[in-house]
Amino acid sequence: MPCCIAKYCHVTFENNPLNAHFHQLVKKPAMHSQCLAKCGRPPWTDKEVCSLHFVDKDYHNFHQNQARLVKQLLLKSNAVPSIFS
Ligand SMILES: [Zn+2]
Repeated sequence: MPCCIAKYCHVTFENNPLNAHFHQLVKKPAMHSQCLAKCGRPPWTDKEVCSLHFVDKDYHNFHQNQARLVKQLLLKSNAVPSIFS
């Protein structure tokens, strides 16, 4: 069952009251490590992070998604999670 790896985030597919999207961490090693560090997880963790930790400019098609023109949010390859509250 996918769950968000961000520290203190408890979003899973089954517990997702805000309908967050799930994103695979980017495959580039440097970016992957940066994402994991931001999420407060050790470097060997390899799971998913939810959309609650990204801002609109992290996506290629955020506004199209908001306008319901596209269903899937496309995360930019250089996006790093930045919201942890
Ligand atoms: Zn999350």
